Amino acid sequence: MRLPLAAVVACVASFHVAAVSQADVASLTDAVNAVADARSLSAFHELLASEPHIAGTPGDARTVERLEKAFREMGLEVEIHRFHPYLSKPIAARLEIVGEETPEGPRRGVMALDLRERNLLEDPATAHPDLTWGWNAYSGSGDVTAEVVYANYGTRADFARLKELGVDVKGKIVLARYGGNFRGYKAKFAEEAGAVGLLIYTDPADTGFVKGPTWPEGGWSNDTCIQRGSLVTLPYPGDPLTPGVEATRDAARADPATIALPTIPVQPIGYAAAERILARMKGDEVRDEAWKGGVRQTYRYTGGSALQLRLEVKQERFVGETANVIATLRGAARPDEMVIVGCHHDAWCFGAADPLAGTMVLLESARSFADAARKGIRPDRTIVFAAWGAEEFGIIGSVEWVESRRKELERKAVAYVNLDMASMGERFGASASPSLRPSIERAIARATSPFTGGSLYEAWVANAKAPSSGASFGDMGGGSDHVGFWCHAGVPSCSVGGGGAPGNSYHSNYDTVAWYRKTVGEDYRSALMVTRACNAVTAEFANDPHVPISVGAILRDFVRLAREADDRRTKANLATSLAPLADRAGVLLARADRVDRNLAAAGAGNAETDALLRACTHAWLDDQGLPGRPWFRNRYAATDRYSGYAPSLLPLVAEAIEDRDDAALARAVAEYDAILTRMDTALGQLDR
Ligand SMILES: [Zn+2]
Repeated sequence: MRLPLAAVVACVASFHVAAVSQADVASLTDAVNAVADARSLSAFHELLASEPHIAGTPGDARTVERLEKAFREMGLEVEIHRFHPYLSKPIAARLEIVGEETPEGPRRGVMALDLRERNLLEDPATAHPDLTWGWNAYSGSGDVTAEVVYANYGTRADFARLKELGVDVKGKIVLARYGGNFRGYKAKFAEEAGAVGLLIYTDPADTGFVKGPTWPEGGWSNDTCIQRGSLVTLPYPGDPLTPGVEATRDAARADPATIALPTIPVQPIGYAAAERILARMKGDEVRDEAWKGGVRQTYRYTGGSALQLRLEVKQERFVGETANVIATLRGAARPDEMVIVGCHHDAWCFGAADPLAGTMVLLESARSFADAARKGIRPDRTIVFAAWGAEEFGIIGSVEWVESRRKELERKAVAYVNLDMASMGERFGASASPSLRPSIERAIARATSPFTGGSLYEAWVANAKAPSSGASFGDMGGGSDHVGFWCHAGVPSCSVGGGGAPGNSYHSNYDTVAWYRKTVGEDYRSALMVTRACNAVTAEFANDPHVPISVGAILRDFVRLAREADDRRTKANLATSLAPLADRAGVLLARADRVDRNLAAAGAGNAETDALLRACTHAWLDDQGLPGRPWFRNRYAATDRYSGYAPSLLPLVAEAIEDRDDAALARAVAEYDAILTRMDTALGQLDR
């Protein structure tokens, strides 16, 4: 919107009375990045990785205290946001081979398989008394003895393939490998197919010796490494018993018996244990190449009737208590508006990589801004630094916080930055809601890479698949704490991070500081790089004179997604074309780009412009939510229905095409057309 200068001044005067910016974006970025320091990151890492801290345990409570103290020492306002989620804990587990086929005929006996990582002389932390055996949260409890069926990754397609081959899963224990989808769906599909138990193992082809030297010689999973993790696959993230509302102590809770959590026992194992099973299987060899993993045995679909496994899992489910630690730095000019930077603090074990490779960046970024503020350079908008609790059980802490103040966030939050596992190597990358992408590119151009000493932006572009077309972004939609902000409250979200270190300790007892330093580096340059990126991006969001929303970037991305979806719908033989939708967005795009350019040139912002910009992101929100998933209010992105980690973009369209439902697709096209109409209206006012 181009306003006469006098009008701009008037708006600024009336809407931002105390609006005195203490620094432009570049000076703020330089000030905070002068503070960020690798030794400080290393110290935060040691502090938070000093003991195992599963949500709801005493180690978790001590981690909350450590975070509170660290934020207070920076001079930030700190709030402990306690909540009471439905959690689970392991009571007992056993896995035995109790029968096998031998040349002399079937034999009965008992061979116990290891359910815990081998302790290592090289890493004394692995013997910590609070570490657990491998377990999957919310597993059913039970004691079953049955034959075994191999189901590859246990995806929807894998179970369909078994059915097509005539392999009956009913009454069997399924052996599936990690990868391909979220583990909770492996359990869901196994249960739906009639399995009585599920074993999930780490295959060496995916993260073990096939990839490289294993821990402790190298960073990859050794044969006893076990991936823990939650199995929850409800149609909403957050506390299983309080969808849509905060899990306070006295909240009205659903009856656990009515919540679709797994009922069969589920047990994760390492590949040494899996190999002992695979070696004894007698059925048909797998024919699909994609089903063959890296264990040095023949992969077979079935074990035969003589091979009997006994699986016992005992867990307790309970309403526990944990907390988010929320630290606030008041903005100097626009204190009512906020940028939120977050990472979870809970872990399955020590969590050196997941989440602390991000949590240490959160702390160092907070220290950077707090220090600069003490020296007189304070951001314009308020910055909230949030360490989330109970993410691992189902993105609980961040979702409860969002649910407790959704309306406020819709009005006041300009962006959310997520840092889960952020510093895992040298290779810089970012994912973002489209409206934030131009801001992030501008911000990263102000940061320096500690690896090259040169521009981080140049390093980023050089990493891209097609460097000539500039920086590339991933999509936001599943798998971490941004889901509440982006998919429920519609707050544009992003994540920045470094990857590429050769190894994997994910959710295992080997995820220790020793593993991190050997695999990612002792110099904490990756964490320093990500802190500088986080600082630059946060400074940009905090001091942009306008709400940091590029309408052009939304529409450009929409055109791309609509065209991709139209290709899929052609292949699916559906009649409803998406071309008119893409064409209409293309026409709006020219106008949106002009608005973006004019706003950048105008410099100072005003409340009316900001309201119109926000209308362009709010246009995507709908209180009805998605079919069967009312919690997912954002029509732009949701979590994929069947894989869990992956985003589903333009989910109404995507799901209609997946379901080959032409009527649903026609309704979806009409809905997206209505969203474009709302954007058109806002653009019309912005482009006067
Ligand atoms: Zn994590």
